[in-house]
Amino acid sequence: MKGKRICIVGGVAGGASCAARARRLDERAEIIIFERGPFVSFANCGLPYYVGDVIRREEHLLVATPEMFRQRFNIEVRLHSEVVGIDREGRRILVRDHQTGRDYHEAYDALVLAPGASPVRPPIEGLDLPGVFFVRTIPDSRAIRRMIDERNAGSAVVVGGGYIGLEMTENLVRRGLQVTVLEMQRQLMPACDPEMVWPLQEVLAEKGVDVRLGAQVERIKEAGSEGLTVRLRSGESVRAPLVIVAVGVRPEVQLARDAGLTVGQLGGIRVDDKMQTSDPAIWAVGDAVEVVHVVTGRQTLLPLAGPANRQGRIAADVICGRDVRFRGVQGTAVVGLFDHVLTITGPSEKTLKALGLWNDPYDCEKIYLHPGHHASYYPGAETIAMKLVFSRKDGKILGFQAVGKKGAVRRTDVIAMAMQKGGTVFDLEEAELCYAPQFGSAKDPVNLAGMIAANVVRGDVDVVHAEDMDRVPQDVLVLDVREPFEFRRGHIPGAVHIPLGALRQRMDELPRDREIWAYCYVGQRSYVAARALRQYGYRAKNLSGGYRSYTTWRKALGKASGVFEGQGR
Ligand SMILES: Cc1cc2nc3c(=O)[nH]c(=O)nc-3n(C[C@H](O)[C@H](O)[C@H](O)COP(=O)(O)OP(=O)(O)OC[C@H]3O[C@@H](n4cnc5c(N)ncnc54)[C@H](O)[C@@H]3O)c2cc1C
Repeated sequence: MKGKRICIVGGVAGGASCAARARRLDERAEIIIFERGPFVSFANCGLPYYVGDVIRREEHLLVATPEMFRQRFNIEVRLHSEVVGIDREGRRILVRDHQTGRDYHEAYDALVLAPGASPVRPPIEGLDLPGVFFVRTIPDSRAIRRMIDERNAGSAVVVGGGYIGLEMTENLVRRGLQVTVLEMQRQLMPACDPEMVWPLQEVLAEKGVDVRLGAQVERIKEAGSEGLTVRLRSGESVRAPLVIVAVGVRPEVQLARDAGLTVGQLGGIRVDDKMQTSDPAIWAVGDAVEVVHVVTGRQTLLPLAGPANRQGRIAADVICGRDVRFRGVQGTAVVGLFDHVLTITGPSEKTLKALGLWNDPYDCEKIYLHPGHHASYYPGAETIAMKLVFSRKDGKILGFQAVGKKGAVRRTDVIAMAMQKGGTVFDLEEAELCYAPQFGSAKDPVNLAGMIAANVVRGDVDVVHAEDMDRVPQDVLVLDVREPFEFRRGHIPGAVHIPLGALRQRMDELPRDREIWAYCYVGQRSYVAARALRQYGYRAKNLSGGYRSYTTWRKALGKASGVFEGQGR
């Protein structure tokens, strides 16, 4: 006897995962994947690296083929087959075969929508000109490669400084192109906090990439032999034969909308925690859906491969009768840029503030630290800049970001898992992690982050931040406890200098009626100073992340001299 008929719209991350999982749970089900494009289950995440020739051959992007689905899973894949309508009452879909031009119906018992998201087309004139590309499919990346290989493009403009824009930038530079990045906002990677993104900007500058922030593209037009001219609203223009537009993605919901399924305010298909849409016979997964953010409690869009795959699996489980639920997302993400990596899990400070959650309900605090990715005495230790956001009330971890050359991903993954389990900074203090000198430290950066934050929650130390240094109250004395040579190289204006080693002897020089904000290079020596001062009856606080975080913050917000002078928050 035949089992239920499961039709799946879209055959890449979410759709393919759903199909394979459904087969593993139900041998009798009839499973058909309808894919509009020429490929099933391809690696979209690999596309920038195919352009960069890191992935050399197109076929290496194909995670699975229709033959493999048939042989290994007994799943039918129909390529070039677009689902153009859903007859919910009759439980059938209308399919358009783009190769034959034929339209036909196909019945379903369960329908899964995994149509993904399409690149946002901003209101810019000239997006259809030859030489302007979006990056979503293998044919897109093939066309970009051809432009470089056959037309010898020597320069490119990348519109958009999110992760796809940055990955494309890296790979175009790898191919020898001179790249200009145009980002409308005042920072790259807008999901992260500006001070955490800043190091990437320095990396791009080192690689000769021209990054322009606050750059709003108005128009792209043909410029004869020089290819294209990209004109900015400011009146500036940039010329290049190749323009990549990567300004975000938008859920593909037309099919769902036409079928009368509920679409949320953010423009994604509404689903419950079983990935079920407003029609109990239809599920939806991946980039096309809105999901709940576990920290903010709000609906959100998170177009990433991990959630799409997990949701596909959950939809299959539910269709096959299992009682499972999607836990929601926390926004764990990583972007690599040359030798650097930037990671995030949980909302950024910016997001928490924008949503009005920073003070209430969480009573948030943040700490910065700059540990080595492994023991400092073992050769090759690289610094990771880390930022942890947590609740002062109970130490609950709310968000984490890290940037550095090595070791950031491992720490972010550990903290992401702790967050998913509702963990606190006390859990990070106690986490038992791998250690040998070439891999980590006996006090791993994760432990250190936990200890520093736990000190704050327990009231052992109070922290101030780089931004507070812009408005130091009259009754506060800023104390630099670094060595004289460090102080000479640069210090916070108005700071009094007493090196930590001399502090106990010279403590009498400090006023007892003023609060003292101590700082050193990364916040460790000044923590020792603040603890000592407190025990001698002074009101002392520690600048979290020290002078290093202070200078990064100033550069990121354009407050330091140099390239970004004059740009405000
Ligand atoms: C260049 C690039 C790099 C990326 N890098 C990363 C990364 O490093 N890490 C990460 O987590 N995520 C990354 N992503 C995002 C990730 O690829 C997506 O989040 C993921 O693929 C979403 O899966 P999905 O199944 O929802 O949609 P998709 O993988 O986009 O698949 C949807 C498919 O549905 C098909 N389709 C749409 N409508 C119909 C229809 N009506 N009928 C039939 N077929 C239809 C489309 O042709 C498409 O093939 C990247 C994306 C891109 C474009």
